[in-house]
Amino acid sequence: SKPIVAIVGRPNVGKSTLFNRIAKKRVSIVEDIPGVTRDRIYMEAEWTGHEFTMIDTGGIELESSDRITSAMRQQAQLAIKEADVVVFVVDCKTGLTAADEDVATILRNADKPVLLVVNKVDSIKDENEIYEFYNLGLGDPLPVSAVNALNMGDLLDKIVDNL
Ligand code: GDP
Ligand code: MG
Repeated sequence: SKPIVAIVGRPNVGKSTLFNRIAKKRVSIVEDIPGVTRDRIYMEAEWTGHEFTMIDTGGIELESSDRITSAMRQQAQLAIKEADVVVFVVDCKTGLTAADEDVATILRNADKPVLLVVNKVDSIKDENEIYEFYNLGLGDPLPVSAVNALNMGDLLDKIVDNL
């Protein structure tokens, strides 16, 4: 089967927008544990001849903050277990949060490649906001804008380099 790329991060950072930008077609929806990470959506993707399957772990947006934290931990753990590459998405508009640090701690201890992606870098004026994410200890943050389709090629290059 194809290598798996999981997209993780707290609600509203733009995971699903990024996912839809990259994916070619939806392949399946998998029901998960009720009330936690309700569904995982699998999509097929391809870049420069390299095919892979992407997982978007969504459906936790309406939970309380405690539930979000535990759902995010579970999401990160699942991603580490299932994925060959983990794409960790953060948001330059809201900046670094405690929830981001929580997920980063789990991902730093994982034996899988993690790509730190700063989404919502919609224009050059947002680029100063990426530096604080170096504090997560996950290497160079890659700025992208899922909405404006900026730096998608760089992100895809990094993904396939790590497959
Ligand atoms: P998720 O909860 O992480 O899956 O986030 P969504 O993909 O649902 O996006 C949350 C919100 O952020 C939506 O209103 C999106 O339109 C917005 N969003 C996503 N990507 C970008 C981006 O690159 N720039 C800006 N300005 N907004 C974005
Ligand atoms: Mg989503």
